[in-house]
Amino acid sequence: MPDPSPYRGDFPILARRIQGYPLAYLDNAATTQKPRAVIDALTNFYERHNANVHRGVHTLAEEASALYEQARVTMARFLGADSPRQIVFTRGTTDAINLVAAGWLRPRLQPGDEIVVTRMEHHSNIVPWQLVARERGALLRYAGIAADGTLDLEDFASHLSRRTRIVALSHVSNVLGTINPAREMADLAHAAGAQVVLDAAQSVAHLPIDVRRLDCDFLALSGHKMYGPTGIGLLYGKTERLEEMLPVQGGGGMIEWVEEQESAWAPLPSRLEAGTPNIAGAHGLAAAADYLMPRLERVRQWEADLTAHALERLTSVPALELYGPRDPVRRAGVFSFNLPGLHPHDVAEVLDGYGLALRAGHHCCQVLMRSLGITATLRASLALYCDHGELDRLAEGLSAARKALSA
Ligand code: PMP
Repeated sequence: MPDPSPYRGDFPILARRIQGYPLAYLDNAATTQKPRAVIDALTNFYERHNANVHRGVHTLAEEASALYEQARVTMARFLGADSPRQIVFTRGTTDAINLVAAGWLRPRLQPGDEIVVTRMEHHSNIVPWQLVARERGALLRYAGIAADGTLDLEDFASHLSRRTRIVALSHVSNVLGTINPAREMADLAHAAGAQVVLDAAQSVAHLPIDVRRLDCDFLALSGHKMYGPTGIGLLYGKTERLEEMLPVQGGGGMIEWVEEQESAWAPLPSRLEAGTPNIAGAHGLAAAADYLMPRLERVRQWEADLTAHALERLTSVPALELYGPRDPVRRAGVFSFNLPGLHPHDVAEVLDGYGLALRAGHHCCQVLMRSLGITATLRASLALYCDHGELDRLAEGLSAARKALSA
């Protein structure tokens, strides 16, 4: 029997039994579970430090402000950013991408300009661009996917031109698990004069991220995909890009002064954070980063072993159609697949009866589904607390589901 994950005990929810079985939580691309360290950080904040930030001189206000700004410092270190001023807290990845679309792209997008995305993007890295493109008469162009589930780099390069303003791509696909060559794509985009937005929602808990090495202009992430709370995420930006942005929301905290007809903006990053922020969430996100940072190297190895094992087990299930790269080096632990003739929702329901939590659907990737000629898949997605035994249970569960549903 292979070892259980060394991290499992850090996550209280994983002690639950579902339908009489130990919970095998394989829906980590949707959201991850939270370690005790994050739960304690949230409780501790509300039990000891809760106050609004930046507006008070009393002790709790100062403590809350210090924790909020410390979270920015931690997240800058986590991403390898030069300065905490490059970290803008948002509600998550979706919010961060919308902020770039409305605050950076919208004021400079001209009719006939182009935005290049890939066919494997999540809706939150397509629709915000469509909204500004439609308003300004610009066009979205889609880089295609090769037969092996990796990005077609030649096709990507062929879509770049002097008209390209933004290249927006996911670091890791939430359906195919493909790891995209983000730096190579950034170099090509920059050579064409475009700026690069990296959607790191699916990579941030699994790959080391260094924004200087990736050379992206913006990076978006969600706390809840990296063992942190929901409702908090961030936008990283190169300083000159953030300086170029117009505020999208006005309100408290983002101004230097306000007169009857005009206001002046506060310095970065407050300028882009109107209203009371998610203070406890930022503190919880920093606790997640603190949990992850010392473990990331070992986690990568653990997840790489799991990914190889998952590929082996899934491809041995008769007739299973697996989408995405077969080469474990080119992919992360997200596996989308179908059992021919069976609806993914029905299969997911049977699997739940064995304590296996998987997602079924289009995974907010309808453009990709169309390219694959399907409407939905089952998806198993891994995290550091998953283990080999759970993947064996998945393979057995799939055989049981086929039997149950074909009868
Ligand atoms: N991009 C990718 C690749 C994702 O997987 C997700 C979440 N499934 C998002 C963006 C959106 O993240 P959020 O809903 O947390 O804003």
